[in-house]
Amino acid sequence: MTYAYDDQNIFAKILRAEIPNDTVLETEHSLAFNDIQPQAPVHVLVIPKGPYVCYDHFAQTASDAEIADYTRAIGEVCKLKGLDQDGFRLISNAGDHGVQEVPHLHVHILAGRPLGRMLQ
Ligand code: 5GP
Repeated sequence: MTYAYDDQNIFAKILRAEIPNDTVLETEHSLAFNDIQPQAPVHVLVIPKGPYVCYDHFAQTASDAEIADYTRAIGEVCKLKGLDQDGFRLISNAGDHGVQEVPHLHVHILAGRPLGRMLQ
């Protein structure tokens, strides 16, 4: 699978500081910021700085350093938000069937209330 990255997507604009964001954490290869329309008391989006459309694109083509940084950034946000107490949910939508709105890889971190059962 080859992915074409659209550098006009909203998260690319955030990374270029063309539009503002409410940053939670920034690392060498990753940025975490609050979702503009939070679905839970904690709703943080974590994105890699590189031009990756979705999770498999990233996992197949990013460097080990980027993957390590991104994985650790997600863990660091969980720590910053104290999510080891009551738990959380990670979601990464991809493509049409995954109903991905923004074509730049992002993991949603949702927490702060009971989130209900997603899979039956
Ligand atoms: P998706 O459906 O692609 O998984 O989720 C995209 C997410 O990006 C949505 O939760 C939406 O609220 C969020 N979002 C869209 N535009 C912006 C923006 O300009 N700033 C921030 N912080 N979040 C955004």
